[in-house]
Amino acid sequence: MTAAVIGAGIAGIAASIRLAVKGYDVDVYEANAYPGGKLSSFEQQAGKLHTYRFDAGPSLFTMPHLVDELFQLAGRNPADYFEYIRLDETCRYFWDDGTRLTAWSDHDRFGREVETVLGEPARHLQEHLHDSAVKYDVTEKLFLHRSLHKASTWLNRDALRGYLNLPRLGVFGTMNEANERRFQHPKLVQLFNRYATYNGSDPYQTPATMNIIPHLEYNIGAFFPTGGMISITNSLVRLAEDLGVRFHFNTRVTEIVTEGKKVIGLHTKGRAGGAEVEQLVNPAPLALCISNMDVVNTFRKLLPDARQPERILRQPKSSSGLIFYWGIKREFAELGLHNIFFSNDYRAEFDSLFGRNELHNDPTIYLNITSKYKPDDAPSGCENWFILLNAPNNTGQDWDAIIQQARRDVIRKLSHNLGVDIEPLIETESVLDPRSIESRTSSSQGALYGNSSNNRFAAFLRHANFSRQFNNMYFVGGSVHPGGGIPLCLLSAKIATEMV
Ligand code: FAD
Repeated sequence: MTAAVIGAGIAGIAASIRLAVKGYDVDVYEANAYPGGKLSSFEQQAGKLHTYRFDAGPSLFTMPHLVDELFQLAGRNPADYFEYIRLDETCRYFWDDGTRLTAWSDHDRFGREVETVLGEPARHLQEHLHDSAVKYDVTEKLFLHRSLHKASTWLNRDALRGYLNLPRLGVFGTMNEANERRFQHPKLVQLFNRYATYNGSDPYQTPATMNIIPHLEYNIGAFFPTGGMISITNSLVRLAEDLGVRFHFNTRVTEIVTEGKKVIGLHTKGRAGGAEVEQLVNPAPLALCISNMDVVNTFRKLLPDARQPERILRQPKSSSGLIFYWGIKREFAELGLHNIFFSNDYRAEFDSLFGRNELHNDPTIYLNITSKYKPDDAPSGCENWFILLNAPNNTGQDWDAIIQQARRDVIRKLSHNLGVDIEPLIETESVLDPRSIESRTSSSQGALYGNSSNNRFAAFLRHANFSRQFNNMYFVGGSVHPGGGIPLCLLSAKIATEMV
């Protein structure tokens, strides 16, 4: 039985492993020359011996057991492929007024820190993290491990628990409202409001249900793959290949060929021997097809003649990102692996991002430095800075002008906070913006997480993991149920392949 997977993003790779374990003969068609999609890696060179390595996209690794599960499913020892450590220190937070706060994985230590730095009773923090765990427990079985689009999901004991606990989920208020009720100090409200950005949403609109997100980081834990984030992609590709999965790189699928209610083949465009080759890939009989391509573009570009699920495809998209990758020729002891430099007016920042589709002039800056834990990612005495700004998704803004302005704003803010002029320290540089995210991974409007979750029905307005039109067609990845981010993408592969 032959299965075709369109796209070697993390969900496509996970789906290919799960299908191979089920006994399918699997081909993965990937437009890029490399696997991983957003979860990829590259190097910058400064002189012959000065090399900086960067993870291109994700930098925070949560729920590693979902990666381990794939190795275990295949009867392999995860440690033979992939290693990671649990972080004691979750993130360092900076504010322009000089306030600095470190979030620790140890709740008591974190509690003491918020008491000392902000005067916030530690009890509020403990209550918040407990509440986050309760919310997660209720939603996990209902939303994360099952299709929302099958009756069986709604007619069982877990669903009943979900209905009974509905008031605890915070469906009817926003994340910001819930956090303002919980915390006295506006800086702690801001800190916990930021978790809305983990799925590209706005804390002033997204429901308080999204307060489940801190549970992943503080209760389950934040982790670091010792080989960098790219080792998630590489180890899973190695596992897939060990199971016989065939990857076809530089091979873009241009059409899904259907007959009646079945997918029967794919049209691809690739390169062979320096020439462009168009092909009808029709491994007879094609048992099933899984698309890891953004669902909007799967329909618009690969299935233009099929019925388009307009209501879902037209939902507002999540935010995107503007990323500066800088090789910095100095080390900063006050910085850690994950660092946040907050904007002074968080509401104005989100009004700008979601209300006017503009970057804010005082953006919150996320600075990730993997060389803190993986020293060979930067030359000795240097650091590899990955700087991510929340950005509106691509609606045709003048990105070149925006990038120049944002670069000045970032340099000003970091120089202020670190007490040193950053600009002369930038030795190498590259930029990723919503346009290039869109062109490199086919994400609609360069959104990082598919549809935004800015309304309480958002979970129901993501596309299902299966097609209602074609019996042997499935969908995985950040644009479909249950959502974006590595853990949810891995779960989308689980849900889709368990339905096969
Ligand atoms: P994608 O990564 O979107 O890849 C899709 C693949 O399909 C691509 O390789 C593309 O080339 C291929 N493809 C598309 N169309 C075709 C076609 N027609 N033919 C062949 N191939 C095709 N998540 C986290 O968990 N933690 C983080 O810290 C985090 N930070 C992020 C920071 C940035 C800057 C970005 C960009 C994302 C971040 N995310 C983070 C989100 C996370 O990266 C994504 O949710 C996840 O990687 C998406 O995986 P995916 O399987 O949907 O596929």
